[in-house]
Amino acid sequence: MQRFVYADNSATTSLAPDVLEKMMPYLTKEYGNPSSLYSFAAKPKMAVEHAREQVAKAINARTNEIFFTAGGSESDNWAIKGVARAMKAKKGKNHIISTKFEHHAVLHTLDALKKEGFEVTLLEVHENGLVRPEELEAAIREDTALVSVMYANNEIGTIQPIREIGEICKKHGVIFHTDAVQAVGNVHIDVEADHIDLLSMSGHKFHGPKGVGALYCRLGVLPQNLIDGGAQERGRRAGTENVPGIVGIGAAIERAVATIDERAERLSKIRDHFMDEALKIERSRVNGDRVHRLPANVNMCFEGVEGESLLLLLDANGISASSGSACTSGSLDPSHVLLSIGLKHEVAHGSLRLSFGEETTMEDADYILSVLPGIINRLREMSPLWDRIKREEAEGKKA
Ligand SMILES: *Cc1c(COP(=O)(O)O)cnc(C)c1O
Repeated sequence: MQRFVYADNSATTSLAPDVLEKMMPYLTKEYGNPSSLYSFAAKPKMAVEHAREQVAKAINARTNEIFFTAGGSESDNWAIKGVARAMKAKKGKNHIISTKFEHHAVLHTLDALKKEGFEVTLLEVHENGLVRPEELEAAIREDTALVSVMYANNEIGTIQPIREIGEICKKHGVIFHTDAVQAVGNVHIDVEADHIDLLSMSGHKFHGPKGVGALYCRLGVLPQNLIDGGAQERGRRAGTENVPGIVGIGAAIERAVATIDERAERLSKIRDHFMDEALKIERSRVNGDRVHRLPANVNMCFEGVEGESLLLLLDANGISASSGSACTSGSLDPSHVLLSIGLKHEVAHGSLRLSFGEETTMEDADYILSVLPGIINRLREMSPLWDRIKREEAEGKKA
């Protein structure tokens, strides 16, 4: 039987069986609407509030600073559009600072705000995939309403200097949002110590269910509503609560945060072993800083290889991987993240992202390593680009 290796945990994760078990009653017999007043609705209502406590505790927030949403994308949209519009209405502030390599849930939200008249500055992330705090500080203006910098990048896994960024924002009185969808459950987050005002997360990235997320919003920070309607979530996010989903995100975040250290230690060993071995393939490189990096993220380029073909051949060997974010696959443009760290188009096309997870073993990594060099050779044999690279190499040696 062929081996199956799932190495795309940054795209989504499995629903943990113990999380599903906690959700089950709310998918079946406990179907009451938490907003109803009769006693049949008491249990679902309590379950939602318990999940709110679990989420708050995981990031050192207060329970009334947590709002449930339909996922990471909604949380990003709400935080950014809500704060920008509120700050414009109240204080005439019109400027937003973010980075070139945010998730599209942030970048496309900023594009929408530009059409409303906002000005956006996107910071460089340099060849190591890290924002430089001094460049952020220099970009802050009198009319800066919001800074939005992701906690950890979804493609190259680089972890930003969040605390320094938070301190700078606090010093200048600018609201600070972070898309922490990739970081929650993988690194320790403390919204107080890091001076974070708003933080986005998504259940399905840490073994919870899909279609449920949360936004942490510091007391006193008042983004405009994104979803108007009923009085759910203290009047700030309308819609009947996704009770099973909310129970799931609460249970999932609690179990993820409890095992961060042991998982980081185990997975960073697998990651480093993988990268060291794969770097033995000629004309390969690791993308993004190797130290300030999510414990389970591998992102590499192999010159003269086309990422999509590489994925298909890995898939034929039972391996699920990615060459960028799931949202961009299917388009022929190379990843904006890889371009933002200065890769040439042709190099960025040959990228491979592996995101390991709690189910990944060293044997899985070794299995991928056992098939990868052969696949790359095969693709290079058919590649006119590789021909050219080798010809230029030979000419370079002669000269
Ligand atoms: C997955 C992801 C999102 C989107 O989250 P959804 O819950 O799928 O909407 C946003 N930002 C980052 C960094 C992500 O990895």
